[in-house]
Amino acid sequence: MNIIPLFLPHAGCKTRCVFCNEYSATGIKKLPEEQELFGTVQRYLSYFKDRKNVELAFYGGTFTGLPVDILERYLKFSSEMITKGFVRAIRFSTSPEEITPEKIAMIKRYPVSLVELGVQSFDESVLRNSSRPHGVEEIYHAAELLREAEIPFGIHLMTGLPSDTVEKDLFSTFETVKLGASTCRIHPTVVLKGTILEEKFKAGKYHPQSLEEAIDVLWKMYVILTSGGVHINRVGLCLYGEEVNNIVAGPYHPALGDLIKSRVALEILKLLSEERNSCKLTLPDDNKIRQFFTGYRKYVVENAKDLGLSIEFSRNAPRVDLGYYIDRLNEIIETRAGVF
Ligand code: SF4
Repeated sequence: MNIIPLFLPHAGCKTRCVFCNEYSATGIKKLPEEQELFGTVQRYLSYFKDRKNVELAFYGGTFTGLPVDILERYLKFSSEMITKGFVRAIRFSTSPEEITPEKIAMIKRYPVSLVELGVQSFDESVLRNSSRPHGVEEIYHAAELLREAEIPFGIHLMTGLPSDTVEKDLFSTFETVKLGASTCRIHPTVVLKGTILEEKFKAGKYHPQSLEEAIDVLWKMYVILTSGGVHINRVGLCLYGEEVNNIVAGPYHPALGDLIKSRVALEILKLLSEERNSCKLTLPDDNKIRQFFTGYRKYVVENAKDLGLSIEFSRNAPRVDLGYYIDRLNEIIETRAGVF
């Protein structure tokens, strides 16, 4: 599927979350007019080879928190794009407290393929200390309303927020699976210019995770979500070009998703080594397995060496069922969830 992203920075937001500065994260300063949106749609369509499976995505801000007349305008624009055959559905991100029976009735009139709920955490103190506009109760309520209306929803989680801990991150991830989210986007908190978090960081009142700390919790979240059947549509903050210069501090890495997958591969190698009672592991010589167990810039191979493990690939090696090992890792994480 191809996505046409339309950014509406801070549109519909009633508060400013401590970590957020969408003007600095997207470089966009004002709400786009329909004419501009149409230009973006045309530009993206010209890039796509497959134009049958295209969706419009309103990212940034709190889509259903927009004043009703503006919300209707954007929905009507989307509807027009659908009628013209340019796109087949729309998706948007919003905040849980802005999902109400009235808003559901409104969006139900359009082909909405996914609502992404900016949840960040299922812990009340993390939400409060991040100045989120909702509490935990609203997350469950929004998910229930969307489920009843049969509108698929995704959840956005963050690690390293003020008052956050690894245990809270893992709890939030297990709750995401339990709620029946179709997708999840996860990223560690990065201090961006022009945010409240930047002030706190400079005053020594906020300490971001190191990249290693972030990886150490994100790989577990990745396993929980994958094992729970939740599609992970992104790991790591999405910043383009110059936007990277807006990072003040924190665990940003342009290939964070690849690093996380590589770390999962390393954990699977450890399981295989225990199971086979051997430090020399022979793995099947097929492209997918070779790529997975080599990892981002040989991350897996190099780190395995440090653990005293060696890998070789052979056509005669026994098959490795990655799904089975992800489920095993998930069981281990679940058992130890209270002690990480
Ligand atoms: S995180 Fe979402 S709700 Fe909070 S200020 Fe940013 S766009 Fe608005």
